[in-house]
Amino acid sequence: MENKERNSDVCVYAKKCGGCQYQGMSYERQLKKKHKRVKELLGDIVKAEKIIGMENPCHYRNKVNAAFQRTKKGKIISGIYKEGTHEVVDILECRIEDVRADAIIRDIKGLLPSFKIKVYDEDSGYGLLRHVMVRTGHVSGEVMVVLVLASPVLPSKNNFVKALRKLHPEITTVILNVNDRRTSMVLGSRNITLYGRGYIEDTLCGKVFRISPSSFYQVNSVQTETLYKKALEYAALTGKERVIDAYCGIGTIGIAAAERAKEVIGVELNASAVRDAVINAKRNRTKNIIFYNRDAGEFMNELAETGERTDVVFMDPPRTGSTEAFIDDVAHLAPKRVVYISCNPQTLTRDLRYFQKKGYRPVKCQPVDMFPFTDDIETVCLLSKLHTDQHIEVELQMDELDLTAAESKATYEEIKDYVLEHTGLKVSSLYIAQVKEKCGIIERVNYNLPKSENSRQPKCPAEKEAAIREALEHFRMI
Ligand code: SAH
Repeated sequence: MENKERNSDVCVYAKKCGGCQYQGMSYERQLKKKHKRVKELLGDIVKAEKIIGMENPCHYRNKVNAAFQRTKKGKIISGIYKEGTHEVVDILECRIEDVRADAIIRDIKGLLPSFKIKVYDEDSGYGLLRHVMVRTGHVSGEVMVVLVLASPVLPSKNNFVKALRKLHPEITTVILNVNDRRTSMVLGSRNITLYGRGYIEDTLCGKVFRISPSSFYQVNSVQTETLYKKALEYAALTGKERVIDAYCGIGTIGIAAAERAKEVIGVELNASAVRDAVINAKRNRTKNIIFYNRDAGEFMNELAETGERTDVVFMDPPRTGSTEAFIDDVAHLAPKRVVYISCNPQTLTRDLRYFQKKGYRPVKCQPVDMFPFTDDIETVCLLSKLHTDQHIEVELQMDELDLTAAESKATYEEIKDYVLEHTGLKVSSLYIAQVKEKCGIIERVNYNLPKSENSRQPKCPAEKEAAIREALEHFRMI
């Protein structure tokens, strides 16, 4: 059926199902529309390169989620909710979903009556089966089926699994996920393995990754490789860098980056993803990576306070984007480059603006079409720290050089005096300038300094930075 499909053919479920917004539109037109949208949002912040599309934009979704419902007439249906409702559209075959996954879901639907498995009713809370999630390995071909049930008890579960595997021997693992809450979240927190290993593995960028039911994994494997390659290219790692992979999921970007870096720190909130990440590092014999199961913002804050060196930060936050606090801490850590991967150009634009205030310049931006036929847009963006290591000779001229309105509030001497008086610490003009730059008060990019060894300069220690920040606050400069 794949061959018969043309990009502009209208899907039979279009308009009913809330999954795709661009059904009926040619793929070329979709790409143009997305490119235009990114360009409009980014404005003059950074030039968006031409969006990278797919050769075959159909059946790319490696994760398929089907909600189950019983109609008033008693028919069991499964598929995607109508836009903005909890009304299921019965879908037999979807043009963006994996074909194997759709076939498995259809057959599960067919098996339910003979096993007397009732479909869960959201209003009454009665019934058992809520959703079926199927994940397929793009390279490995492994297939995971997750039955999301309202209770941990599936009657004659062994026979059910047997019957399902008879129809689909390609299934490598079956998991029962318990979701007994009245919630619109698909998965509950408990997973019970009914068959196989309880996870699948797949290969991405030459590395093998374990994917558990509750962990995030990009849904379009073909485009993810393109995206990550771009991210790694932007990071321009040489083997000497200390790298942070924030919002790291199961460690995909960090593990791919580790072989080109000195060390990598991954941070991720979802405990199951972090467990996968640790195993994935071992599986790929990656020894120079460490993962923390933490809130990325809190973690960065602590790291910033220690004043430890960081050269490159990858960040791949959820749709809501990052936070000002997180960006403040990145600026504090002062990496040379930040590679920002985003699935929402709106929050990306907001965050890039804030990065600009913090002394980072968006340099390049590459949209990648991860979600054909939908209006979702993925982009990877490179930010570069405005030159910091080129201005030691500035010491004497500092005051004349960058007297901006904000700065005129207190001279370097006044700040030095204030710091000495309040903390007993002596700070140099250079340190003050570094802190001002981090705070976005000055941008020391235009100094025409010779590229001599003078460009290696001492960095303001954390304790002095805190003292200077306090003075800047006192003078109401930040
Ligand atoms: N970089 C990974 C995951 C990106 S998705 C990949 O490409 O596969 C975003 C990830 O951010 C998810 O794994 C989600 O669990 C995680 N996340 C969401 N909020 C977070 C927070 N406050 N701190 C850390 N991680 C968070």
